[in-house]
Amino acid sequence: MAYIEPAPLKDKENPFEAMMSRFHDASQLLGLEDEIYNVLKSPARQVIVSLPVTMDDGSIKVFEGYRVVHSNILGPSKGGIRYDPHVNLDEVKALAAWMTWKCAVVDIPYGGAKGGITCNPRQMSAGEIERLTRAYTGAMIDIFGPDRDIPAPDMGTGPREMAWLMDEYSKTQGMTVNAVVTGKPLVLGGSLGRTEATGRGVMVSTLTAMEKMKINPYKATCAVQGFGNVGSWAARLLAERGLIVQAISDISGAYYNEKGIDIEAAVAYSAKNKGSLEGFPGAEKINGEDLLTLPVDVLVPAATEDVIKASNAPNIKAKLIVEGANGPTSSKADNIINEKGIVVVPDILANAGGVTVSYFEWVQNRLGYKWEAERVNRRSDRIMKDAFNNVYRVANEYKVSMRIAAYMVAIDKVAKTYKYRGGF
Ligand code: NAD
Repeated sequence: MAYIEPAPLKDKENPFEAMMSRFHDASQLLGLEDEIYNVLKSPARQVIVSLPVTMDDGSIKVFEGYRVVHSNILGPSKGGIRYDPHVNLDEVKALAAWMTWKCAVVDIPYGGAKGGITCNPRQMSAGEIERLTRAYTGAMIDIFGPDRDIPAPDMGTGPREMAWLMDEYSKTQGMTVNAVVTGKPLVLGGSLGRTEATGRGVMVSTLTAMEKMKINPYKATCAVQGFGNVGSWAARLLAERGLIVQAISDISGAYYNEKGIDIEAAVAYSAKNKGSLEGFPGAEKINGEDLLTLPVDVLVPAATEDVIKASNAPNIKAKLIVEGANGPTSSKADNIINEKGIVVVPDILANAGGVTVSYFEWVQNRLGYKWEAERVNRRSDRIMKDAFNNVYRVANEYKVSMRIAAYMVAIDKVAKTYKYRGGF
């Protein structure tokens, strides 16, 4: 088939190009028709808004906000909102497409979207962040909706911002609409298990992969990059299941203890220290980059994108990489890692526990009912395991990496649905 653009491969990648490169390879293996390839590669909608916000000193600052709906073929679009100084349209486009593939790979009835605001929430007061969140919600009122597009937290946002978003949206509708957003505080209709859901999914993926690879969790060592929501929960749950977490890290650097870090102590320390591990007494401080090449069995990148690249991939010693973050591995690094025989559980599968429990939150809101934590965990573990086994089967059948297999499963599902619907 004649494709429009073969995806470029270089070391420092634009995240959209990295995603397109995998999409391209998987589409080719599936023999996807050109027409459908073109539909799936283009975001359905891209919105850029200017958000004037009154700052605490009385000045007015204008922030740029984005929402990209990549696809609504499988259902309403779903995806987080990121507050970060580096947010840009290309990144949001890549993350939106990732959400389409992620929802499809775990077989939940959502399309993909992503949003973001270029801002530094660490340098803003709660009042300023609230005004910014309300301005963003107002600007996106025609995009958001429980049957149209359902946001959620991502880097730099959490239950507090989702509560403001729900409140602002509800005011415009004249009634409480809690299903418009997920990741809300429990009292506003949040789901039990949502906070730890992504880290829990990473843990389930890790243990399922280790079972296939015949690695005994009680003898395995592990390093986790990033100690925010995903990394800290993944580290905690893996440690609970017997893995020795020898290294953790955050933006302040990496912390190493050969005998295993007391993760509960690290969580408590970071919480008291404004979310930073700086000065953590239970480990030796090492260079942040060096965490990635430690001689551990399992490596969990759970911080940010493009950290495993052609320059450090040859030095990676882990047998298994489980991608908690979105896009932590460049496509060029993929080739090196595959040649080394390292198994990678790709982002769109490994970190899909979050969107799975987000889906459960939306289901509960629409039912007007609340599930107990045990039911949430049991159902999300089942979904993660089934998705893992499905991707693993396709990887073996086509003799491809789990990443390409995950894309094949996802693209095949969206393409088939599109064909049945006859386009719209
Ligand atoms: P977070 O803001 O809670 O935490 C990010 C952590 O990474 C912080 O500890 C920060 O200090 C650290 N960090 C940032 N840059 C780093 C670097 N270069 N080296 C080491 N540490 C660094 O964010 P999060 O919600 O945990 O998200 C992390 C990743 O997981 C992102 O890629 C996000 O898109 C992805 N993700 C999150 C969820 C979710 O439910 N929160 C779901 C799916 C995917």
